[in-house]
Amino acid sequence: MSLFIDSLKAQNFCVLVEYLCTMKVALPVRSSLAGYPVYMTWADRVQTDEDPSPLDVAQNAPEGTEQVLHYSGKGRDIANFEQFLKQAKALGLRNLLLLSGDKLKNHNDGHLQPELRSRYLESVNMVMAARRDPSLNIGVAFNPFKYAEAERDAQYFKLQKKIQAGADYIITQLGFDLDALKQAKKFLESVHIQRPILACVMPLTLARANFMVKHKVAGIVITPHMLNVLAEEKETGFTERVYLRCALQILICKQLGFAGIHLSACHKAEEQMRLERYLEEYGHLELDALELLWNSFWQVKTGKEFMPTLTSYSRQPTSSQIIKYQHLHFMHDAFFESKIAKGVGKLIFKAQFWEQATVAKALLKTEFVSKHGVVGCESCGQCRLGDTLYICPETCPKGLANGPCGGTTLDRCEFGDRECIHSVKARLAKAVDQTIVLKEKLIPTVPIEIRGTSSWKNWYV
Ligand code: SF4
Repeated sequence: MSLFIDSLKAQNFCVLVEYLCTMKVALPVRSSLAGYPVYMTWADRVQTDEDPSPLDVAQNAPEGTEQVLHYSGKGRDIANFEQFLKQAKALGLRNLLLLSGDKLKNHNDGHLQPELRSRYLESVNMVMAARRDPSLNIGVAFNPFKYAEAERDAQYFKLQKKIQAGADYIITQLGFDLDALKQAKKFLESVHIQRPILACVMPLTLARANFMVKHKVAGIVITPHMLNVLAEEKETGFTERVYLRCALQILICKQLGFAGIHLSACHKAEEQMRLERYLEEYGHLELDALELLWNSFWQVKTGKEFMPTLTSYSRQPTSSQIIKYQHLHFMHDAFFESKIAKGVGKLIFKAQFWEQATVAKALLKTEFVSKHGVVGCESCGQCRLGDTLYICPETCPKGLANGPCGGTTLDRCEFGDRECIHSVKARLAKAVDQTIVLKEKLIPTVPIEIRGTSSWKNWYV
């Protein structure tokens, strides 16, 4: 039995209160907030890469507390996840939120030792693995706060994959742009995805906003306008609006048809009481009145106050990108997909000869040399180019193949040193009429033991 699942099924607006696994104080665990059921949710490795595991801290929660465990794929492999699933099930913990995760604090780019490169297990692959158990309640993250066309398309494409892989519910990234939240809701309706969606909110203080800007917290948009409003409020003593605004956002989300909210940075009893007071005070208002108040407190005049300043990245794939795609697509079909190629390849590679260490090494080297310069191949052993429009997933610092993480800023990668490969791919997919691949093709993860072997041989054999 899961109270959270029951809430989602009954369309009973609920509140997931987020706790960090590093918290050492006794936690106030309420069962409701302004009449909405409250469940506990444990964030995974938010403060450091070595934070205690949600699995461990969940066991100390007061008996009978409904809990949701986050699992972040950063620095992990499918074998770690299978182990986590086993333990969670053994403890009767069935509510999960599966995320690829932001950049590891100690990310190793493998520049000096490729075998030590940090790996990130993709949320899509976690959902695929978890879905084998129908009793699990699987949540996925989605970032609707994207303002360049390609990065936004890429997010929506990946969301469809997550649903296809078996996600039960969706939680948005933390964000304050109501238009983006409305767009997400509308999108789900337009493609007939009947999955509950919860919005992530927090009482946004000036200190928190400044922290997120200073530390470039991945995927969260805080604009100069927002900082100005918060600074002005602090100066004039209107800081209570932080809670009032959070309450308004929750009430607006409820009226927009969201299934609930994921409440971050509001675990203290006193904070929850302040929030509850405003939820009760303004709970009777209609959507229009709530939005009016929201807009007045945020000093919204143009509707663009929550958007980053748009810069001009290339909006269309270049002709050389299209020609490269067409060329590689032709080669892939001819050498890997055609019946003849598969038959001949199997015949060649089943010979014992290829098992010899020197031969295997030479084959791997040949494959690397012929592909690295063209697509950035890193000898993953399970070539996915045919499913990624010939843009190698290994050129994403996290190695994501199924779609982007939530960390882009106007198409720029979370790591800051390149354009996100998934934005490039989304643009190309539109140009060559292949968006279906990015929405539907579930690409399996690469087990660690396959890395560093020839994908040619693995493909045919
Ligand atoms: S390339 Fe895109 S998906 Fe990969 S880490 Fe950068 S932002 Fe995330």
